[in-house]
Amino acid sequence: MDQDAFTTVDAYLVEALLDRDEVLDQALSDSRAAGLPAINVAPNQGKLLQLLAQMVGATRILEIGTLGGYSTIWLARALPPDGQLVTLEYDPKHAEVARRNIERAGLADRVEVKVGRGVDLLPSLTGPFDFSFIDADKASNPAYFAGALKLSRPGSVIVVDNVVRAGAVLEAGGSADVQGIRRMNEMIAAEARVTATAVQTVGSKGWDGFCLIRVVG
Ligand code: SAH
Ligand code: MG
Repeated sequence: MDQDAFTTVDAYLVEALLDRDEVLDQALSDSRAAGLPAINVAPNQGKLLQLLAQMVGATRILEIGTLGGYSTIWLARALPPDGQLVTLEYDPKHAEVARRNIERAGLADRVEVKVGRGVDLLPSLTGPFDFSFIDADKASNPAYFAGALKLSRPGSVIVVDNVVRAGAVLEAGGSADVQGIRRMNEMIAAEARVTATAVQTVGSKGWDGFCLIRVVG
């Protein structure tokens, strides 16, 4: 693995194609200052999420795993002014940092940060959501996939982050996170209401990948 090259190419791509954005930069630096881990999506991945949400014309978006609200801001910016994003976060400190970042981004009117375990909060939500982004504890991915699917409609899109984990996904008896991803893949394959693929990625965040799911029925 040539991490330096991946990082340098990501920096080039971001510089070449993405607008400078002080609100997003500030969201990251405030997250760092508050001691949150640097496990947010990369800028070019955040932009990918935003483009996908725009492509499906999303007016209601679900996110599981808020952290400091970095991916939340990318996604919420895909919404029309009367759109809505609900994001679920277990750690109250992360949620507090996220709320400040979302407020500064001018998105507080359309973003709701709910604090609690994803599996506990999902049943309280009302669908349908046009787009869901699953990016919390990977061990719970089977429950998150099932919950997001329940809250979807035909045509909805679900994206699941970090499904490759530097190749660790190959280990059938691997960590709880890896087993959560593998079990979710089995559920997706057996589920007639969805069609899906997964793509490996390299970049500033190392070697990982995402799963892209389209709800068809
Ligand atoms: N989507 C964010 C990164 C999320 S990191 C971004 O790209 O910017 C994963 C987040 O999931 C962390 O903030 C962690 O606290 C949260 N999390 C962990 N377990 C959870 C659970 N059971 N329910 C909801 N959130 C959880
Ligand atoms: Mg992630």
